[in-house]
Amino acid sequence: CKLNTQNLYQISKQVAVPQYNRSSIKASIVHVGIGGFHRAHQASYIDRLLHQESITDWGICGVALLDFDIKIYNTLKEQDGLYTLIIKELDGSLTKRVIGAIVEYLFAPNNPLVVIEKMASPEVRIITLTITEGGYNYNEATSDFDVNNPLIKYDVEHPQAPKTIFGYLTQALKLRKKRGLLGCTIQSCDNIQGNGDVTKKMLLSYVQLAEPELTEWIESNVSFPNSMVDRITPATSSLDIANLKEVSGIEDGWPVVCESFEQWVIEDNFITGRPAWETVGAQFVEDVAPYERMKLRLLNAGHSVLGILGALMGYSTIDEAANNNAISSFLRIYMDTEVSPLLSDLKGVNLEGYKKSLLQRFGNEYIKDQIDRICSESSAKIPIFILPTVYAQLKRRSSIAHAAFLIAAWAIYSLGENEAGDNLLIKDGMKGLLYEKALLSKKDPKVFLEIASVFGKLKESETFVQVYTKSYQNIVKYGVEKSILTMNNKML
Ligand code: NAD
Repeated sequence: CKLNTQNLYQISKQVAVPQYNRSSIKASIVHVGIGGFHRAHQASYIDRLLHQESITDWGICGVALLDFDIKIYNTLKEQDGLYTLIIKELDGSLTKRVIGAIVEYLFAPNNPLVVIEKMASPEVRIITLTITEGGYNYNEATSDFDVNNPLIKYDVEHPQAPKTIFGYLTQALKLRKKRGLLGCTIQSCDNIQGNGDVTKKMLLSYVQLAEPELTEWIESNVSFPNSMVDRITPATSSLDIANLKEVSGIEDGWPVVCESFEQWVIEDNFITGRPAWETVGAQFVEDVAPYERMKLRLLNAGHSVLGILGALMGYSTIDEAANNNAISSFLRIYMDTEVSPLLSDLKGVNLEGYKKSLLQRFGNEYIKDQIDRICSESSAKIPIFILPTVYAQLKRRSSIAHAAFLIAAWAIYSLGENEAGDNLLIKDGMKGLLYEKALLSKKDPKVFLEIASVFGKLKESETFVQVYTKSYQNIVKYGVEKSILTMNNKML
């Protein structure tokens, strides 16, 4: 039957449903960007929290900010904010749960003032965001706010009908100040290094343009905690929707699928209070940076390794690459010999267990994460995920063999063909330049390292250039798999 409040009892005979009284829950969190990840991560933590009897705060008001979001808005509206979370376990079994944490939902383009009023209302204490990296409006090269974005100019001129998150937040905070209300917390849950710091910097840059007299009030009344978020959430497929209906009899217009692993490490900096997320699995720490470093250099770097090597070998999903023995032992050796020595001990984290679970997660054949998605924008990812490891290893005169091999593979990948001669779908803002340099690298591999906005001064390291060049030649001569096997055998 159709998923909605009225049918919940019927549905509860098939899958777990919210056991709390949703109509008594106050929406004191506004969340912007009710895409797959928010619904698999934060909303699922909140759903568990709301099962604690005493809690009636901390429901979520979901905001869809873009015109494009009309479909998810309509779906949630028809389903009274309910949706099914389908967790794909490692053994292929599915754990399904109806999530009730989103108790209100607003579509901003239809009525921007209602969204501004909601964000400014006294009951709202936290505004959370998953608006993707692109939503933060920063210039990749300078890391500054992009003041030339026409949407930003539009928002400055139309404060009552903004189009970007910055227009909304600024007007809501202005109202809070005017009405003598408390400030609030603005918490980014996007995959960005220092996501709270970036949000603050970008918002204050916008405020300087639009409402400069608000700056001081924000500095003292709004907090921006950093956080590290993790749960692999691929896009929902029509097959997922059909299976849910067939197996559990639930007609859900937009369920969310994800892996069972979840992690949320948060800086405890909530100026007007927060939910006890630690009671449902989140971890509060003073400094998120080392956790983030571990995740970026192991999980995200691991994704790049599997994606680039896997693409060259003709695979199309991450699990296929992770289940190739040569690639998986390459990744394991990379993690152990080049990354782990640089990571400090972290409270609550068993590094060995973390790496082991990563390999299992990558290998989950039910998740089917697309290699094209993982390799997209590698020119922005490699400098964050891989190169810091290289610089640090060079400094301590330790191995860079696997990282150099990966960069060599990336140079060959950038030619746009896999080893069987089939076209690769490369989505990258620097695609043209990458191709140009990749072509010249066929004669002289180190030309690829001349892309300064990616590699900085790496080409000046003789050690790196030597190992990289040798790897490049090996891949051309023997192919990825054979080259890796030779390397692995030497290491084992
Ligand atoms: P999605 O495509 O399902 O949803 C994206 C959401 O972002 C939509 O609600 C959309 O309206 C909103 N959005 C996009 N651009 C925006 C903009 N300019 N302004 C305001 N809102 C905007 O994607 P998702 O899987 O939910 O991922 C969203 C983000 O979550 C990622 O970019 C990443 O930072 C983070 N994340 C995702 C995963 C994952 O596995 N999917 C894991 C960790 C973190």
